[in-house]
This record gives sequence, C-alpha cells and structure tokens, in this order.
Amino acid sequence: MKRVLVTGGSRGIGAAIVRAFCEAGDRVVFFYRTNHAAATRLAAETGATPISCDVSDPDAVRVAYAEARVALGGAPLVLVNNAGISDISLSRDVDDTAWRRMIDTNLSAAFYLAREAQGAMIAAEQGRIINIGSMWGKTGASMEVSYSAAKAGLRGLTMALAKELGPSGITVNCVEPGVIQTDMNAALDEATLAALCDATPLCRIGTPEEVASVVLFLASNSASFITGQCLGVDGGYAI
Ligand code: NDP
Repeated sequence: MKRVLVTGGSRGIGAAIVRAFCEAGDRVVFFYRTNHAAATRLAAETGATPISCDVSDPDAVRVAYAEARVALGGAPLVLVNNAGISDISLSRDVDDTAWRRMIDTNLSAAFYLAREAQGAMIAAEQGRIINIGSMWGKTGASMEVSYSAAKAGLRGLTMALAKELGPSGITVNCVEPGVIQTDMNAALDEATLAALCDATPLCRIGTPEEVASVVLFLASNSASFITGQCLGVDGGYAI
C-alpha cells in the first residue's frame, strides 16, 4: 500500500490517476482548486481524500501538504504533480497576470510540492515524483507560448531533481501526454480535433486512463531504475 498525493485530482487525467491508485489498493489524497462537486463525487466513488488547495500559492501548498500527511497517516512517498491550466492566445495578447498564472500553476507548483515532499522521502530513502508535462513542452505549440514554456520548464525541473534526489533513492520522471479527452480540450472544435488526430500516428486522441496507467507504472517497482525521463503518451504525435 502506497501513500499517494495527486494534484488536480478532481477531473480529467488527475481523476483517472486517483481512480487507478485507489483500485490498486493505495491510500490517496488529491488536491483540487474549486470544483467541490467533482471532488466530492470522486471521493465518494474511490475513498480518496479531497483537499482544496490552490497549488500556485506556496503558503496554501504548505498548509495542504501538512493536512495530506495527516489524512494519509504518514507522508506521501508518491507525488504526482498533475494540476494544470491551458491558455490558447496569441503571445502578444498574453498579459502579465495570465503569464504568471500559467507559470505559477503549471511549473512553480510542481517545485513547491517537490520541495515540501522530499524531506520525508529522503528520510525514508525512497520516493517517486511524477510530473505531468505535455508534448507541447517538447515541440512547442503555436498560440500556447506560456503553456509550452511552463511544460518545457517541467522537463528541466524533472532532470535536475532526478540528479539531486537520485542518491536518496527518489526517482523523478515526467509523463508528457498528447491530446487527451478531458475538459481541457472541450473548447476545441471538430475541425481542430480532426487535424490533431490526423497528425497523430495512432490516428486518435488518448484517454485519461492511458495516461494514468503510465503514472502507475512509474510509481511501481517495475520502474525502479528509471529516473530523469520524459515519457511521451501521445500516440506518437511528438516523434
Ligand atoms: P482538466 O482541466 O480536466 O483538470 C484540471 C485539474 O487541475 C482539475 O482537477 C483542477 O481543479 C486542477 N487545477 C487547476 N488549477 C489548479 C490550481 N491552481 N490549484 C489546484 N488545482 C488546480 O485538465 P486535464 O486533466 O486535461 O490535465 C491534467 C494535466 O495534464 C495538466 O497538467 C495538463 O496540462 C496536462 N495535459 C493535458 C493534456 C490534455 O490534452 N488534456 C495534454 C497534455 C498535458 P478544479 O476541478 O477544482 O478546477
């Protein structure tokens, strides 16, 4: 039984990750921002504990991490940094507030959580940190400059932490989904989705469960010698 903390667990990929760990018999706490209804539903379905926490706020992260330790009956030794937002805009239209919100949510939050969680992992001489990046962090996406920059930053964070924390028995990896069927893509029109499928060697978009299964693998003993890697779960889009 692992103690697992998942950010952005109320919906989409995060919810699939919460379900998958719970189905495997693990103890799970998940953070979410404001969607109490979805969080409560998922908690009732899975037995996981929901905690409302804006992960872009380092003070809120400190408080919520302490709550998570209590709810889990010990410090989480698996941390999944999944919470994220998207923004499709011309770069010239991205104002300072929107830029900071993106970097704070999609990049800094992973640092805040990793900083908080590593003490107990170092003491236990084991730990798994899994960051959810994006194929756009590898290839760049037109009109998603802040998103692409934040996700590219996660690659550097992953590799640097893997080197720093490896001697303490902690692995740090990044999963980079392609286009996945979630609320994040709900605004994409049919033509855009069709074009994205055309550009994907497997000719379709992915499911949250297909991302969750890779996260579970990286948290498992089978992945004990894998660290510092950015693993695409994108149907081949970013080849
Ligand atoms: P969704 O929009 O479906 O869900 C986002 C989740 O993140 C929700 O649980 C939301 O909470 C939470 N969240 C957002 N901002 C914050 C915050 N400031 N503090 C705490 N929680 C927050 O997204 P997806 O499931 O699609 O995406 C999950 C991750 O996967 C993201 O990092 C995304 O960038 C990445 N990804 C997604 C892809 C896709 O095609 N869907 C492709 C590549 C990467 P609440 O419900 O309360 O709003």
